[in-house]
Amino acid sequence: MLNAYYVDMLGHKSVIRELSEYATERKRAVGEENVYDFSLGNPSVPAPDSFNEACIRLMKEEDSISLHGYSPSVGIYKVRKQVAESLERRFGIPYGPEHIFPTAGAAGAIAHALRAVTTPGDEVLVFAPYFPEYGPYVTGTGAKLVIAPARMEDFQLNLEAAEELISERTAAVLINSPNNPSGVVYTGETLEKLAGLLTRKSAEYGHEIFLVADEPYREIAFDNTPVPYTAKYYKNTLTCYSFSKSLSIPGERIGYVAVHPEAEGADILIQVFAQISRGIGHNCPSSLIMRAMGETVDDTSDLAVYERNMNLLYDCFTSLGFTVPRPGGTFYIMPKALEEDSVAFCRKALKYDLVFVPADGFGAPGYFRIAYCVTTEMVERAIPVIERFVREEYGK
Ligand code: PLP
Repeated sequence: MLNAYYVDMLGHKSVIRELSEYATERKRAVGEENVYDFSLGNPSVPAPDSFNEACIRLMKEEDSISLHGYSPSVGIYKVRKQVAESLERRFGIPYGPEHIFPTAGAAGAIAHALRAVTTPGDEVLVFAPYFPEYGPYVTGTGAKLVIAPARMEDFQLNLEAAEELISERTAAVLINSPNNPSGVVYTGETLEKLAGLLTRKSAEYGHEIFLVADEPYREIAFDNTPVPYTAKYYKNTLTCYSFSKSLSIPGERIGYVAVHPEAEGADILIQVFAQISRGIGHNCPSSLIMRAMGETVDDTSDLAVYERNMNLLYDCFTSLGFTVPRPGGTFYIMPKALEEDSVAFCRKALKYDLVFVPADGFGAPGYFRIAYCVTTEMVERAIPVIERFVREEYGK
């Protein structure tokens, strides 16, 4: 018999994937250059040469059997050390290799982090707007997803709602900054208040509430916006990182969980993660990619295109009278639709071959998301089309 939980998921496929599939079909029909596909968060810049060169050098110089062999279940020691040293240098937290667990991207990191600190029936609190995959990430562990509604004025964390929603069943809080879909970066003040709340609630309920900090966009920040490092504010933090966006290698599936050295269970958590891997089959990420990552841990692709695109789109939408929070980072922007029903708005945009994603599934009804990890040339061509769409459909 098929598992009803997963069969049921077929009826709730990702809207982003569906729109992206539509865009691909449409490109076939009318030509690639005539579709303005802003649906997917797939990096649009190449990986840095240093990463490619590291892969080539490893393949040329290293023993093939060991290079392509299974990695240890907690990851390659040298790479864990490289990551720990980089984090300590950058953020001043004394991580050691015993706190770093390499994973298959941020998705793999979150899968391990959540399982380590929840048991089925527990609750995990997330804040809207949030990455829709948090639904399956959380429910797949047997825990319940609890959603704090968005704080509409600035899309920082809605801590008043969290105060009400955290209960004795809350095992973890999962946050994402810089944020997909809003592009907003949580300020130090916001994180400090969250830490205070979690410390107080942990004491009240007599168990630690873990903070899972999902930070794959940490390196993509604009206007010199500081991106506070969440773990500096709260010791029970499991930082989930991915090189998908910073090194533009989403297909290589590499990231890590960093356990704060003072977190509850910090001495055993990565061994616990290794046991979780056995159960979920997400074990031993690629040895070659892990090693190339370790050698380029402080590098990034040339990420400047995202800031250029953000500025063009932000100016376009504000000059057309949209309400739009200015992104502090990521490659997303989330304007408010010109009618209450953002699905209807995005459907009308499709008539102009503008592919936008309604943000209802991200917990921000009435808004829509644009992923501008595309060429600046495409953004420049899209702007007059956006202007025509808004003029013809909304008389602006
Ligand atoms: N978390 C957020 C907020 C994301 O936007 C994504 C991917 O787009 C992920 C996690 C998953 O990232 P990865 O590709 O590294 O698994």
